[in-house]
Amino acid sequence: MLVNLLVFALGAMLGSFLNVCIYRLPREESVIFPASHCPKCGRNILPLDNIPVLSWLILGGKCRFCKEKISARYPLVELITAVSIFLLYQKFGLTSDLFFFSVFASVLIVGFFTDLAEQIIPDEIVIVGLIAGFSRALLNGSFFDSLFGAASGFAVFFIIEKLAKIIFKKEGLGFGDVKLAAMLGAFLGAAGFWHTFVAAYVLGAIVSVFLLVLKIKKMGDYIPFGPFLIIGALLVLAIGW
Ligand SMILES: [Zn+2]
Repeated sequence: MLVNLLVFALGAMLGSFLNVCIYRLPREESVIFPASHCPKCGRNILPLDNIPVLSWLILGGKCRFCKEKISARYPLVELITAVSIFLLYQKFGLTSDLFFFSVFASVLIVGFFTDLAEQIIPDEIVIVGLIAGFSRALLNGSFFDSLFGAASGFAVFFIIEKLAKIIFKKEGLGFGDVKLAAMLGAFLGAAGFWHTFVAAYVLGAIVSVFLLVLKIKKMGDYIPFGPFLIIGALLVLAIGW
């Protein structure tokens, strides 16, 4: 029980760091310095106000000093990360896979929110994800499958992007998805990548129809594809497809 609580708390603290990455990586800022501060009044966030999820709730989602609204994304990311790490610990125990999949979950969480908010997949998370994916494959003796998965992801999305440019005369998916697909392939292997690809397209089509019907988006509007790839990858992992 105590260990479970500790794992959950560590996960929430990791989520707190992922929040910093989500905000700063697309802005090309350091994720280490300076300390977290309110984007409006610039005052440093007190250690007591930096407790994952709880501080946001206690402060009513506002800065202590200037009462600027603080996005619900912060406690949400902390909660998602804590639950992810907790579930991974239940599945893997204290093994190397707990480490590798925690890294994988972290880069997916960061990529999901940066792509959604700014249409950016930061290079940093792609590099960290590729290194973790290849390292795990080396330890498992599945390095070539991992390499082939990364190459498949890269090639498929590279071709789609070029075709979209020729056919629609504009940026199709953007290079972010090419990098993201390569990273997913490195972790999931070739078959895992293809399953993710199918799942992402089906999900993307369903959600796009809903967004159009509900008039949240109109024809020709941009909908980032990265989040669908990421949810597709999580589905493939969860059901072991
Ligand atoms: Zn403030």
